[in-house]
Amino acid sequence: MKAIAIFPSSKEVRFIEHEAPYLTEPDHVKVRMLEIGICGTDKEICAFEYGTPPEGSDYLVIGHESLGEVVEVGPAVSRVKVGDLVVLTVRRPCPHMECRPCRAGYPDFCITGDYTERGIKGAHGFMTEEVVDHERYLHIVPQELRDVAVLTEPLTIAEKAANQARQIVDRLPWIERILHEEALRFNPTALVLGAGPVGLLGAMKLRVTDWQTYVYALEPAPNPGSDIVEAIGATYYSQGKIPGEALLPLFGHIHVVYEATGVSRLAFEVLKMLSPNGVFIFTGVPSLKAPIEMDTDILMRNIVLKNQLVFGTVNASAEDFDAAIRDIGVFRQRWPEALSALLTSRVAPEEAPNLLQGSSSGIKNVIAFDTSTRVTSKEQV
Ligand code: BGC
Repeated sequence: MKAIAIFPSSKEVRFIEHEAPYLTEPDHVKVRMLEIGICGTDKEICAFEYGTPPEGSDYLVIGHESLGEVVEVGPAVSRVKVGDLVVLTVRRPCPHMECRPCRAGYPDFCITGDYTERGIKGAHGFMTEEVVDHERYLHIVPQELRDVAVLTEPLTIAEKAANQARQIVDRLPWIERILHEEALRFNPTALVLGAGPVGLLGAMKLRVTDWQTYVYALEPAPNPGSDIVEAIGATYYSQGKIPGEALLPLFGHIHVVYEATGVSRLAFEVLKMLSPNGVFIFTGVPSLKAPIEMDTDILMRNIVLKNQLVFGTVNASAEDFDAAIRDIGVFRQRWPEALSALLTSRVAPEEAPNLLQGSSSGIKNVIAFDTSTRVTSKEQV
């Protein structure tokens, strides 16, 4: 069976023959992979900055943004059936009894760090022809979303963030009235940092709930990302055009910042501009660089004197996957073209090693094991 894998000892990324998986437990399901998205994490894994093979293996099959079709089910499987389209979650719980989050079904909040992540940490991923997993890690996708459902996993980042942020904002005793009765006057404003898939899907999530949304990114407009931003009724600013510190007067207030760049210097500059009672959400994982100077007194003064909340979020729960699948349907209804425009190319698995190690352009590139949707690089553009 074909797969794309990294070999950390020889620092190679290869298209390999990998042993076909089979059902070994009654609740196991076999999934034929259709499409697997490539993200920044995959590129870091292929640059050997991140990623760990399963114990006893000298390679790691990568890929964690999945879309597949169920081809076989074990005798105890009741929810999914052959032919269903499914997306698989990424993280699997740690084995420790004391880890309450993992025991409660929320490995995304694991406290021991001994979780595994398919395609990332200690477990093979989805860039292969077939995978087997427990039924509970599969989420059914409506057939009509087949062409965009590979965007589910990157959207789960925004779903988890939105879920957490909602609970944080709810701590304000008067907020319910403002959001429901005075929504027009309140005009909540969000700033998204970054116009990659996580940023753009985050912006879509904000726009469906009618937040005034600004997206701030490096590349000058117009570009495919800025076109999507405008199409969903948000506003795009490029770093080239407006330096960080000049942003605030433009927005008036920034109630929520959704950080999706992994650029810590930019993030902390923008944190200084957060409004009173505001929430700053970190989702990017920066590569480790030399320390930089920062005005920690201003940051701390603001956080205290303005009742601000800063939180980080990683991975996502089963509920977040279900919410993402629902929202993909909502986005498709509202902005069919902008949603499809997130998907830049669908390429053959043989091309994956180059794409993963080179400087690929576009927003979301996808590896298609299913030949019916594939578009080779020559046919694109
Ligand atoms: C994935 C998450 C994962 C995180 C850290 C992200 O790219 O989307 O599922 O938890 O990397 O490994």
